[in-house]
Amino acid sequence: MWEMKDLKKLARMAWIKRIAGLAVLVALSGCTVNPATGERQLTLIGEQQEIAMGIEADKQVGQSMGLYPDEDLQRYVNEIGQRLAARSERPDLPWSFRVVDDSAVNAFALPGGFIYLTRGIMAHFNSEAEMAAVLGHEIGHVTGRHSVEQMSRQQLAGIGLMAGMVLSEDFRQYGQAAQAGLGLLFLKYGRDDERQADDLGLRYLVREDYDPREMPEVFDMLSRVSQAAGPGRAPPWMSTHPAPEERAQRSRAAIEQALAQTKERKVLSAEYLARLDGMTFGSDPRQGYFSGDRFYHPELAFQIDFPSGWQKVNQPSSVIGVSPNQDAMVGLSLVGAKSAEEAVKGFFSQEGVRGERPRRGAVHGLTAVSARFAAAQQQAAEIAGTVTFVEYDKRVYQLLGYTSVQKWPDYESSLALVADSFQRVTDRRVLSVEAGRLDIVKIPRALTMRQFVELYRGSVELEQLALINRFEPDEEMPAGTLVKRVVGGDLPN
Ligand SMILES: [Zn+2]
Repeated sequence: MWEMKDLKKLARMAWIKRIAGLAVLVALSGCTVNPATGERQLTLIGEQQEIAMGIEADKQVGQSMGLYPDEDLQRYVNEIGQRLAARSERPDLPWSFRVVDDSAVNAFALPGGFIYLTRGIMAHFNSEAEMAAVLGHEIGHVTGRHSVEQMSRQQLAGIGLMAGMVLSEDFRQYGQAAQAGLGLLFLKYGRDDERQADDLGLRYLVREDYDPREMPEVFDMLSRVSQAAGPGRAPPWMSTHPAPEERAQRSRAAIEQALAQTKERKVLSAEYLARLDGMTFGSDPRQGYFSGDRFYHPELAFQIDFPSGWQKVNQPSSVIGVSPNQDAMVGLSLVGAKSAEEAVKGFFSQEGVRGERPRRGAVHGLTAVSARFAAAQQQAAEIAGTVTFVEYDKRVYQLLGYTSVQKWPDYESSLALVADSFQRVTDRRVLSVEAGRLDIVKIPRALTMRQFVELYRGSVELEQLALINRFEPDEEMPAGTLVKRVVGGDLPN
């Protein structure tokens, strides 16, 4: 769901401070031997604190990314994860395994045993064993205590950065700032940590009798996803993990060894693919989409226009536009207030924010309160902006636009136009837009992917379909193969 961006940042800061406090409290915990790795570790954070950190961060994930709304799928992923974790060296952590509603290909672990797969990575797996391999790897980051060590390090270092970000004049950083919320969760581990997580993951996979050969399959898939994304556009998992080719190479010997230790060698491909039938694929237009400079949110039934030429990004909690020179920005988000009046009071109660008397009025017939404001923080240049709170459908929306005090005259009118463009959507075609969904097809005879696309028309191109099915376009798929296609998800034009 949506919420006020700045409030979230403040909340996060408060959270970081709390963790920093915890870290100081337990600084004398000393050195222990890690049960998973057998290594001596300098532990600054005890297990109870680690769990507390995880619980806090887990709330952030739930709020900023949202869980994929499919109870059966969630239960399934959790069951597999629980089984793997129960046989790890830290079986008593409050492990949880969930699917977040995000189309990016990613997996991550928080301290204390909170592990997430995106629905994007789920769509790319072709068997339960592949999913288990990635879950095992993430479990390895927790049992190896990489997550807690990294999180405490990154967040202690991050306090100054976050404080400066809220009112930073340097809008060039805005893009990074927008990413930073999630970036904190995608912990960057060292290469040694990654290798260790691979080793531990393989160990857990073998203990649950999965076919260890599925592990390099996953690395191969991630490598293909990375290549398809193109340089510099790799999915988040890629930027925090070593080259998949290198990992596949390295694990080959280990795989051979692991193979000798498994009997059943579970793969469970058909069982896994059946779970994917009907799952949302790609970005979900019901959560908002752009048509030119106009942003539509079908679920919340509103639209808003951005100035032409601005960069725009739709995030789970806000939609943001940044000027071509990156010296002005405008953002729309939901606030928790009961009325526009209450929201504007809350806005001006923030430290360092002052402004003129708010004006009451209407935006396209909706009750609204708006005000110009200026804000400054230590070591940051003063910014000037306009804020409008609009009441619509029992919710209060905040439209916030700002720039530096010097640039204010250049942007005043375009920022005002954005706020004034907010209105309800009545177009049925927009309101009824649907996300694309995976459809699992059992092919009655041998087909190449190219032939499959001809026969079973779907809404994504051959190349992407080949990628998620992991068949080359002209490679023959035997009769009876379960093949993923994507149906629906077309936008009205
Ligand atoms: Zn990793």
